[in-house]
Amino acid sequence: MKILLLGSGGREHAFAWKLSQCPEVAELFIAPGNAGTLSCGENVHLNPLDFEAVLQFCKDKQVDLILPGNEDPLVAGIADFMKPRGIAVAGPDRFAAALEGSKDFAKAFMLRHHIPTASYQSFNADNLHEGKAFLQTLNPPYVLKADGLAAGKGVIITPNLDEAVQVLDEMIAGAKFGSASSTVVIEEFLHGIEISCFAVSDGHTWKMLGEAKDYKRIGEGDTGPNTGGMGAISPVPFANEEFMKKVAERIAAPTFEGLKKEGHPFKGFLFMGLMNCGGEPMVIEYNVRMGDPETEAIFPRLRVNMAELVNAIAHGNLENVKLELDPRTAATVFLVSAGYPGDIEKGKPMHIPAPGAQTHFFHAGTTMKDGQVLTNGGRVLAITSLAHDLNLAAEISLVAAETVKFEGKNYRKDIGRDLAALQQ
Ligand code: AMP
Repeated sequence: MKILLLGSGGREHAFAWKLSQCPEVAELFIAPGNAGTLSCGENVHLNPLDFEAVLQFCKDKQVDLILPGNEDPLVAGIADFMKPRGIAVAGPDRFAAALEGSKDFAKAFMLRHHIPTASYQSFNADNLHEGKAFLQTLNPPYVLKADGLAAGKGVIITPNLDEAVQVLDEMIAGAKFGSASSTVVIEEFLHGIEISCFAVSDGHTWKMLGEAKDYKRIGEGDTGPNTGGMGAISPVPFANEEFMKKVAERIAAPTFEGLKKEGHPFKGFLFMGLMNCGGEPMVIEYNVRMGDPETEAIFPRLRVNMAELVNAIAHGNLENVKLELDPRTAATVFLVSAGYPGDIEKGKPMHIPAPGAQTHFFHAGTTMKDGQVLTNGGRVLAITSLAHDLNLAAEISLVAAETVKFEGKNYRKDIGRDLAALQQ
């Protein structure tokens, strides 16, 4: 098999690392990749959203399968584009990808298929007035979501009604997130603990793929601004068998069945962003690909032939793919650049010693220049360690974090600490 993996983050390094272990992978290309993916395959200069260029590359190199790591090419319809041109894509078509690409579509889909989620209404320029009136009828805090992709910034939650009204105005009339906020979903605030659950489907069968909890805020104790993710742990202590059974039966099953009924069976990885509301899972959001940093926590636990898995997603036969999760706990700590999630400086030389036996380093914002690894983004390196105990796994990752050097290195030292007590 020749595979083209699209993306450049820690998630893509984790995919590339898994794929590089499979004997059936003859060649692995990563577009554009990072300094870490260089040791798993060949990085190529390609814009994943330039489908014609991607197609030409696949023809030139006789690539069999494209694996999109992030949502942009999926939402833009890469699977629909490639299918008639004979290149397999391990990811959903544009219709199914709208579960992530449009919050309004996702909410309506959940309503159609009786999937538990917060109650909501959608508004646009035609009924902006009604939106403002609707806010007056709700209890705080107010949750406003830009309908389209807004680089993870399109959700605003405020306890203040005047601010909520103003934000609604800015989103719709002021195009705060461009066309992504021409429609806004206003929904009920859910109280509980968040969890990310994963499943995979080939369009016929589906399987659960474990769960993780990510840590989104920059500061310890979950303070400060949101980031792309400062760390993750997997498994999640409160996600017991009973809870995961509810997730499978009430959320994953009707999602896959619903898409099948609507003529767009889901092929790919499904990320269910959930709130555990007193033991009852409610959907906050769908993503139509793996999460980042959750992938970096789950993949070191995942015992699977990744080439077989992505091939099954594209061509069927998932039923016969063996999937197992290492029962140990993974704790991922993300090293980030000074100033992140605000302005950062790139190009800082990195010193990265070999990790210990229980630890994996996944590159994110890194690049290689003249044989030297340099920082190349806000989130730089994900460090995952496995241990029988969450505290120990986190501790090993923190020790490893000390050994990696670059100017301005920052990371949270409390990943998993809030949940470690639950594991006892
Ligand atoms: P999303 O982009 O939909 O994942 O939303 C970003 C974050 O906002 C989520 O990870 C939650 O922390 C929070 N959030 C979104 N929707 C709700 C809701 N209905 N109730 C409470 N928190 C929410």
